[in-house]
Amino acid sequence: ITDIAPSVFETVESEVRSYCRAWPVVFERATGSRLYDEQGRPYLDFFAGAGSLNYGHNNPVLKRALLDYLADDGITHGLDMSTTAKRDFLKTFRSTVLEPRALPYKVMFPGPTGTNAVEAALKLARKVTGRETVVSFTNAFHGMSLGSLAVTGNAAKRAGAGVSLHHATRMPFDHYLGDRVPDFLWFERLLDDPGSGLDHPAAVIVETVQGEGGVNVARAEWLRGLSELCRRHDMLLIVDDVQMGCGRTGDFFSFEEAGITPDIVTLSKSISGYGLPLALCLFRPELDVWEPGEHNGTFRGNNPAFVTATAALDAYWRDGALRERTLGRADRVEGALLDLCGGDGRAGLAVRGRGLVWGLEFADGERAEAVCRRAFELGLLLETSGPRGEVVKLLPPLTATDDELDEGLGILARSVRHATG
Ligand code: PMP
Repeated sequence: ITDIAPSVFETVESEVRSYCRAWPVVFERATGSRLYDEQGRPYLDFFAGAGSLNYGHNNPVLKRALLDYLADDGITHGLDMSTTAKRDFLKTFRSTVLEPRALPYKVMFPGPTGTNAVEAALKLARKVTGRETVVSFTNAFHGMSLGSLAVTGNAAKRAGAGVSLHHATRMPFDHYLGDRVPDFLWFERLLDDPGSGLDHPAAVIVETVQGEGGVNVARAEWLRGLSELCRRHDMLLIVDDVQMGCGRTGDFFSFEEAGITPDIVTLSKSISGYGLPLALCLFRPELDVWEPGEHNGTFRGNNPAFVTATAALDAYWRDGALRERTLGRADRVEGALLDLCGGDGRAGLAVRGRGLVWGLEFADGERAEAVCRRAFELGLLLETSGPRGEVVKLLPPLTATDDELDEGLGILARSVRHATG
């Protein structure tokens, strides 16, 4: 790595707090599935902005829309004014996403990030029900603010921050059950038992695939059971689709496969499609108890992001082509990963995923980290996830070509052999 770590990188690193020590270069440009460092060296990007770049870097359709908007002096900052960019987005979101799925949601712009969407969802659930406790899951990740951290599973993220867990309680996520039939009876007993000490929860918040938690995939029947549990016990179901939404699992919303309709949904990351900050909190209309101005923020509703989001929905969600393509490639990726595991028995212990999010679990974080380091040297960007960083996560742009997918999987295979050989 030494010969590709320019001193400029060290200057940058010494002046800011940055966790990205895994990639010791200074990046300059990006198109499609590739980033380029300032020396012009290309890197295949199987990280895709942690799921923010489902349509690739500088997607030409989105870029054209953005450049046209700016050339016409489109409004960049408009607080929560009505703007044509916002109106176009809302109309397009309704016609391409909500109406075809018969989803009745109202849309709220809670702030620029996924964390903001989660905070708004938690706040709304508490306001609507008049209750405070929220149930979340082991290994969940919901954000970095105090409320979203309280429902995040990873204790290391909370360390020393004085996060109050008083009104957050945890259930085991589906993958702890192995092949066992999903059963929430034990939780129902707790809910029904006045001696259990559990305050009746306002809501349950869940990811259908835990991205940061290690690519843990919930089964559709488990999600259906959870949805029924919420209905039976008058708890709101919040699906946090910040990372798995916008087509990552194939469908626009990751919960579609399970056939459930959450009460509240959070979206961010790839909704703008261009890496611009935008977040949405969607909720059933009867939950709309917000008073005007009750949940405000300077950067909620970013007009350039509305423009690229509208272009992305127009280009990719007017028909089912992207969905089909993503689902069609899931088998290809899974097959390659299983080959990699089974081939010589040295590599990953487990392969998990859906659509174009896949995880390869190693015995420990050091091995997973070594794989990512080697992949970087060979020109592939990958990140680890999971409670001990033991899962190498693959999150290529949905628009990656077949050749790019094969190239990345090939580099991964070489990196695994190198790191575990
Ligand atoms: N929820 C989930 C499921 C996420 O994956 C993330 C980000 N990794 C967040 C919330 C927080 O989003 P942000 O970093 O934009 O605040």
